[in-house]
Order: sequence, then structure tokens, then C-alpha cells
Amino acid sequence: MENIKQHITNLRNELREHNYNYYVLDTPTISDYDFDVKLKALQELEDKHPEFYDANSPTQRVGGAVTKNFETVKHEYRMYSLDNSYSKDDLLDWEKRIKKMVDGDVAYTCELKYDGASISLTYENGQLVKAVTRGDGFQGDDVTANIKTIKSVPLQLKGDYPPKFDIRGEIILPFDGFNKMNEERLANGEELYRNPRNTASGSLKLQDSAEVAKRPLECLLYNLTGTNLGVTTQFESLEKARSWGFKVPDAAVLATSVDDVVAFVNHWDTKRHELPYETDGIVIKVNNLQQQEELGYTAKAPRWAMAYKFKAEQVTTVLNEITYQVGRTGAITPVANLEPVELAGTTVKRASIHNADQIEKLDIRERDTVFVEKGGEIIPKIIGVDVAKRPANSQPTVYISHCPECETELVRTAGDAKHYCPNYNGCKPQIIGRIQHYISRKAMDIEGLGGETVALLVNEGLISNYSDLYELTKAQVIPLERMAEKSADNLINGIKASVAIPFERVLYAIGIRYVGETVAKKLAKHYKSIHNLMEASQEDLEQVDEIGVKIAESVTQFFASEENIVTINRLLEFGVQLSISEEDLKGQTDLLKGQSIVVSGVFEHVSRTELKKLIEDNGGKVSSSISSKTNFVVAGDKMGPSKKDKAERLGVALISEIEFLQKINHTF
Ligand code: AMP
Ligand code: ZN
Repeated sequence: MENIKQHITNLRNELREHNYNYYVLDTPTISDYDFDVKLKALQELEDKHPEFYDANSPTQRVGGAVTKNFETVKHEYRMYSLDNSYSKDDLLDWEKRIKKMVDGDVAYTCELKYDGASISLTYENGQLVKAVTRGDGFQGDDVTANIKTIKSVPLQLKGDYPPKFDIRGEIILPFDGFNKMNEERLANGEELYRNPRNTASGSLKLQDSAEVAKRPLECLLYNLTGTNLGVTTQFESLEKARSWGFKVPDAAVLATSVDDVVAFVNHWDTKRHELPYETDGIVIKVNNLQQQEELGYTAKAPRWAMAYKFKAEQVTTVLNEITYQVGRTGAITPVANLEPVELAGTTVKRASIHNADQIEKLDIRERDTVFVEKGGEIIPKIIGVDVAKRPANSQPTVYISHCPECETELVRTAGDAKHYCPNYNGCKPQIIGRIQHYISRKAMDIEGLGGETVALLVNEGLISNYSDLYELTKAQVIPLERMAEKSADNLINGIKASVAIPFERVLYAIGIRYVGETVAKKLAKHYKSIHNLMEASQEDLEQVDEIGVKIAESVTQFFASEENIVTINRLLEFGVQLSISEEDLKGQTDLLKGQSIVVSGVFEHVSRTELKKLIEDNGGKVSSSISSKTNFVVAGDKMGPSKKDKAERLGVALISEIEFLQKINHTF
């Protein structure tokens, strides 16, 4: 028995090494045939001896697990987006901002920006335990079974890896593999995949992992996250990750000035066309991790990193027709319907034109030859007209005056770039759009109900606003197209379950114009219940941190509508969370109300992130740099001397971690 176990272990180690040589180093040392023979031998042994099962055995790479619903997992460390820059001046501005916030010289790591789907991998004791998509940055989908089939993702690490860490990377589909997949589809008469990026990201959410295993996906890594990682710079962490068995492209270089960075950009702007996969720019990161920590994050992105986007590709084509779309807020968006044209690897048929001003400014007309540009994943846009090619009888575009859906006269308020259809309760796309927003993932996240079904329900006259959802019965939905017993049950249950969604998300879901996720959070925290919010006057609202006139106006307008009040009251009746629960209120105080606090250095009892959360939970505001408005600085170990000087000069008090924790009655 010991013998068999040893044999299995040896085979696994050997196959692992071959996988690594082939998929990470691109230098195989045995033939595919020999590899398959060994893999088959291992598979047979494992089948005979299930007691030696190992979820990370090389045999698991072929997939087979089927996931119906991907579990939502909260990221231990948030997955941020990146700020973009487009010129040397942008980079110089960024450097200036950085140098204000940290001491000493700043060096940068320059990396390629891989264009695929981001992924976060968690390793414990050298074993892959979890792979989660970015999702909304706070939480994503657990796609571990699918990721395990990607051969360049190590299931077992080697070397001196830390006991627990997350590593972030990009799942990409190299051009070669993408083209092969499309050749196969062509041969089978199937519709072709549009581009490698979308195909890679779509692959992660396939239900059958064996299907994923067949796709030539790769995983390129770029960031280590966690504590006690034993590295002090970004560049070092790339090298370490590589030594543990990860695929980390070796294009990365260290730069000590913006000029160096620009040289790297220029080099890759042409060279990138020789790469086996798509890149849409480069990423520049402050190299020193201690400096990264001091710089911290804005609401969306790290302050210590910057993407540099390569100049977008451009083509010309003929604009056949301008049509108009009505959004859920009633906003009208003109859409350019183009003569199909190839652009950056995809066929473009439509482009957005934003608003009437844009049409006027560029003098865009039907039958014009237009310049179309595409950058990253943004939908292509028209950036100009080739006037020389304009037909002789061309007429300036006359913007529509009435809603294309309900024929109501459009309005345009001063200061607003868009026209709106004011028919709030009678315009179909608005009614449907609002309910679609209500059920969407970041809002009420109603499982079993999709956007198309919402449209169907509205068109069948079964619902006309989101509160109607809660009165739907199974008998009503079963007759709908493509509904079955099971899906009807799921739909009704999904709606029922949504009453547990916390207040801040409900506030976002009800669709008050200008109240996005962040504002909804702010308002929920400040007012604690919809009742308090309804009572709030315009002036009162404007007093709330970061709530301006526009939002305040929109909120009061929303609650001034009789119809909205009726809808809200019905939500209340159905048990939807319209106030903050006891649970959420725990640990929240006003002890630091109105105070602006800076955090600097390294702490002993709580992490920097926890410290910031404590400040916010107690009503304070975390600010990134010291100014005369700063109330005090929580100073940890290794606080930078320039920050210290500044605090002294401005007479801002420094308090220790312990003093701070005592101040807010925090036990530790
Ligand atoms: P964006 O989606 O344009 O905000 O860009 C941010 C994304 O770029 C991140 O979420 C990553 O998935 C991706 N990315 C690609 N390459 C890198 C890299 N070398 N370093 C950091 N992020 C990268
Ligand atoms: Zn309308």
C-alpha cells in the first residue's frame, strides 16, 4: 500500500514538472504522447485507489465538475480598477501627486497590461484553494473548478512560498488558440467568437469545466496580496511568484524616472504587435511596497499604480442612420448605425454619439464618412467627420423632439447634456429599465429573473413597477414564453429572497437619478431609514458629506412623487429592508463626526484597512494627505519624516494607535 501511495506521488510530481515545463516555461522535455501515457497511468491508479484522492492532482486538469450556480465569494482584499493615463504629462502629474505623499525616491515597475479577465487565486500551504473572478471588486464568483483546468495555473507551488496569500492575474486567450477555436467553429458552421478577451472571460463562467479544459486559456500573474509575504518591492514579488511556479511574463522592467517609463511605453507600442496575446497598454506601479501602502487607494483604484493606454485604433466608415435609444431614466442616447467595419479585431456596427451637443459640435450627418475609434472595452465612438467625403445634398441632423417610444415631447433642463422623455410612468423602456435595474446584480440581485423576462412581464401587463414583483404568482408566470415549472419556482423564490437585501442596496435599487452605489451607501448610513430620508429637506441633504445640489434635488424630487411614495409603501408592506438593521448599526458611532483624519505608518493592533474602517464606522473621514483641515494624524511606526514635518508645521496633532483606539472605546 505504501508503495502504491509513493508511486502515485511520484507520478504526480513528475507530471506537474512536465506541465510546468510545457505551459509556463514553453520548453517541454517529453513528447505529448509520453505525457499522455503517464497521465493515463496515474488516472488508473487513482481510480483504483480513491483513498489517495487529491483535488490538486494533475488528473484534475481535465475537468468534469459541473457548476450550475457559481457561488459568490467576498474578496479578502478588494480588487481595484486602475486609473488611466494617455501622455507623458499625465505621468508627470501622477508622479507629482505621489511625491507629495511619500518620502524619498520613487522607482517604478513597468509591466504589460494583459487584456483578458482578471482573477484572484488563493493559495494555502502551496495549494490552490480558490479562484474568484473580479466581480464588482468586493465580491466575485468562485470559478475554482474551471481555473484548475488551465495548465499554467499551478495547483501545487514550489520553493519558499508564504503559507497563505492571494495572487492576482489575468486569464487570457492567446491569438493562436483563439484562431484555432474559431477555425473549428467555422468548420461546424457556428457563429465565430468576436475577440480573445470576451472569449476568455466567457470561458470562466462555463458550467462544464471539461469544456473549459479544452480551451487554450492561460493565466498571467502580476500582483501578490496578503501579509508577511517576505517581499519589499513589486519587482521582487514578480520574481518570487515566478520562482514559485507562476507564469509571470518577463517584459517587466524597473524604471527610476518618468523618462524611463516613457521609453518602455514607446518600445512596446510597436513591439506589442509581435506578442502572442493582446495587450491594451502598460501598467506602472510604485516599486516600493511600503510606499504603496502609504499611498493607499482612492474609491476605485490604487494611487500607486497607473495604466497607460496605447493610442486607440481608428477607422473610417459610412454612418447609415442615427437612431435614438431611451434609457431607464428617460435619457435619450443617439446611436450611430454604421456600415460594418473591422476595428481592433472586432466588427463594429454601432457607435455611441452621447448627445445632441456632440452631433452639433462634430456636425455629424447621416451618410457622412466618419472616424470611429475604439479604446479597450469601451464601445466605439465617433470622433470626427471626413467632410471632404460628404454627399452634395447632405442636410444637418435635426435632433428628435419627441420620444421615439411613447411620442411624448422631450425636455432638456439647463446644465444637462441629455434630452429626457418626461413620461416617467407611461414610457415602456423606462418602466422596463427601472425594473431591470432593480433586479440587477449590484441592486437586489434577484436570482431566477433576467432582463428579458422583466420585459416580457411588463409587456404582458403583469407588472408595471418593481413593487408589483412581490405580488407575482407562479400561476401568472408559467404561461410565459420559455417558462417551466422549475424556472417559475426559481423566479418566485428569488423575488421572495430579495427582502433580505440590506437597505443601502435597496436605496440604490429603487433608481433615484444620480444615486449610484456609493451615494446610496452614504445616504443609508446617514439617514438610517427611508422614512428619515423622505423627511429630509433639500438643505438638509446638502449638508451630508459629498452630497451636492444635483443629488439633493433629485432625491427630494423622487419623494415628491405620489406614485413613488405608493411604490415605496408597498415595498415596506412586502418586507423589503427600508432601514438599517440592528446588525449593521453595531459598532457605529458619531464619536468622530465631522473629523478629517490621516493615517500614516505601520500599526500593531489593527491593520491599516481596519483602522480606516474604524474611523468611518465612528463617523470620521479618512483623508490621504495632511492639510490645515486635518483634525489629527494617527501615527504608527515608520511614519515618513516629511509627513511628520508637515503635521508639525500646520499644528496638526499626532496621536498613537493606542490613544486612537481608546478614543473610540475600541477593545483590542
Ligand atoms: P481596467 O479594467 O481598464 O480598469 O484595468 C484594470 C485591470 O487591468 C485590472 O483589473 C487587471 O485585471 C488588468 N491588468 C492587466 N495587466 C495588469 C498588470 N500587469 N497589472 C495590474 N493589472 C493588470
Ligand atoms: Zn417616452
